Amino acid sequence: MKTFSNITALRRYLDTCRRETKTIGFVPTMGALHEGHARLLTRCRRSNDICVLSIFVNPAQFGPREDFRSYPRTRVEDSALARECGCDVLFYPSVKTMYPHGARTTVSVPDVSRSLCGSRRPGHFDGVATVVTKLLNIVQPHHLYLGQKDLQQTVVLRQMIQDLNLPVRCVIVPTVREPDGLAMSSRNAYLSADQRRDAAVLYRALRAAKQSVLHGERNAARIRAIIRRMIAPTGGRIDYIECVHLATLTPLKMLDGPCAIALAVFFGRARLIDNIILQI
Ligand code: AMP
Repeated sequence: MKTFSNITALRRYLDTCRRETKTIGFVPTMGALHEGHARLLTRCRRSNDICVLSIFVNPAQFGPREDFRSYPRTRVEDSALARECGCDVLFYPSVKTMYPHGARTTVSVPDVSRSLCGSRRPGHFDGVATVVTKLLNIVQPHHLYLGQKDLQQTVVLRQMIQDLNLPVRCVIVPTVREPDGLAMSSRNAYLSADQRRDAAVLYRALRAAKQSVLHGERNAARIRAIIRRMIAPTGGRIDYIECVHLATLTPLKMLDGPCAIALAVFFGRARLIDNIILQI
């Protein structure tokens, strides 16, 4: 595995790969890698000649009171896991490398950035869209791998790729979960033992909500109430629970067609997100 922190050197290497008509797959991450990231890397490895991983904790997507400084950084372990997954290239830029002039030009993806996490984390998806545009321009991959856990991120980035005619195909990988159903996340490291136990309620609640839909429930308020009631006895503090249209992410009163139930819940200082997709 080759490691680069310099954009010019990385570009030079990937240019050579492209001249040799190799296909390039790309997995952008913020590091603190876990099995969820590993699944993306394995998919990328299988379908491309060159598998590129980036690790960059992007300051532009964190709010002023969020966890940019304390976000887990585990470089040695990350390199080992990347190597195990057959990664060919690790791109590990500094903030100065990515933003030598600070954050000047911004990519904004309207509408789909507005609901769910976008309404709770102002500017978050501008930060994501901007850094992913930069990374796509640097790596110029054929395929981009994203996890379904970050549902809104997949919708925002797919729309951005379409609207800006970026020459890359997006592959969405299903959420990888712990045995008790908790979606794997770098932020799970913030959880105490009690919070970790409590957090398993999120997927149980999403499954219960899905079950009610399978039994004919279509009313979003009642579906959200099922989830709220299950979270109430735990230490979880609800940020949002929403039923949304899958393509537009607009909140629905009645579920119909392709939709998703998405939530964000705090356990202590860990803000955890999860979702489930439904085809009605
Ligand atoms: P992050 O490092 O949290 O920015 O995530 C990098 C990529 O890994 C994103 O596309 C995430 O959606 C994806 N990812 C994170 N956790 C999981 C998971 N549990 N299952 C599948 N993909 C994930």
